[in-house]
Amino acid sequence: MRRRVFSGARPTGNQHLGNYLGAIQNYVKLQDEYQAIYCIVDIHALISLEDTGLLQGNIHNMTLDWLAAGLDPEKSILFVQSHVPEVMELHTLLSMVTPLSWLLRVPTFKEKVKVQPQNVNYGLVGYPVLMTADIVLYKAELVPVGEDQLPHLELAREIVRRFNNIFGDTFPEPQAKLTSLPLVLGLDGKEKMSKQLGNDIELALSEEETVARIMTAVTDPARRYRNDPGHPEICNIFRLHKYFNPSGTDDLANQCRSAKIGCVDCKQLLAGEINSTLRPFRQRRAELADNPKYVTEVLADGAERARRIARETLGEVKQNMGLL
Ligand code: SF4
Repeated sequence: MRRRVFSGARPTGNQHLGNYLGAIQNYVKLQDEYQAIYCIVDIHALISLEDTGLLQGNIHNMTLDWLAAGLDPEKSILFVQSHVPEVMELHTLLSMVTPLSWLLRVPTFKEKVKVQPQNVNYGLVGYPVLMTADIVLYKAELVPVGEDQLPHLELAREIVRRFNNIFGDTFPEPQAKLTSLPLVLGLDGKEKMSKQLGNDIELALSEEETVARIMTAVTDPARRYRNDPGHPEICNIFRLHKYFNPSGTDDLANQCRSAKIGCVDCKQLLAGEINSTLRPFRQRRAELADNPKYVTEVLADGAERARRIARETLGEVKQNMGLL
C-alpha cells in the first residue's frame, strides 16, 4: 500500500502564482507517488474570525483552482475539514495529553497574540492540537513542509509520542517530507506573494489582467531611465522569468545589464510566458466553473472517503483511552 501524505491549506479563495509554484504543483506531483489527502482547513480559518461570510466562496474557488491545476479526485482525497466532524472530537481528546506549556511557547502563538490582542481565544492556543488531529486522524505518515514549518510538525510529533506512551501505539509519528518550495515574492519585490498584502497575481486572471498586474511590479530601483544598465539579480521580474522560462534567463540577464531591453518589454515578455503556461489551466478552470455542482460533488465524495478513515481511527483512539 502506498504511504499516506496529508496536507492542509486555509481557504484563501482564488489561488495566486505563489500558491501555484509553492504548493499546488507539489500537491499534483505527490498524488502519483502517495495516497494523498488534501484538506481545506476551514475551522482553522475561524481563529481570526475575519470575513467568515466569504468562507464558502473561498472554498469553492480554491477547489476550482486545485482541480484545474491537476489535482485528481480519483487519485487524491480532497475535502473540507469541517465536513469530517471527527476531527473536532479527536482534537478534544488530544488536548487532554497536551501540556499547556508546550502550546504557550509556540512562536506563532506569541506573534498572533500581538496581531489580535483583542481576540486571544482558545482556538489560537489550541491550534497546534487541531493541526495534530488533522494529520493523525488519517494516520498520515508524511506531511509536506518547508523548513519554516518544521517546529509545528515537531510539536505534533511530541503530542503523538505522548499519546502513544500513555495509551499504547495508536498513531504513526508523522514525518516531514521536506520540500524546497520556492519563496515567491509579490509584485512589491519585498514580501512573500500574498493575497492579504495585495501583491499577488491570481491564476484565474484573464491574459489582459495578467499583463496589467505585471506592469505594476517593482523592478530594479536603480534603473530609472531606459538606458540605465539593470541588475537582474535584485529584480523580482527576473526571478519570475526563472520559473517560466528558465532556459532564456542568461540571455535576458545580459540584455538587462547592457540596457538592450527595457523593463516594460521585459515585463511584457514575462506576462506572455505566464499566460502561455497558464492557458491550459485557465481553459480547464472555465470548463469546471460552468458546472458548479461538480465541485460540491468532489468535496462530498472526498469527505465521505476521509470520514471512513476518520471513524476507524477515532474508534481505536476511544478504545485505547478507555472510552469504549
Ligand atoms: Fe528587471 Fe527585466 Fe528591468 Fe532588468 S529589464 S531590471 S530584469 S524588469
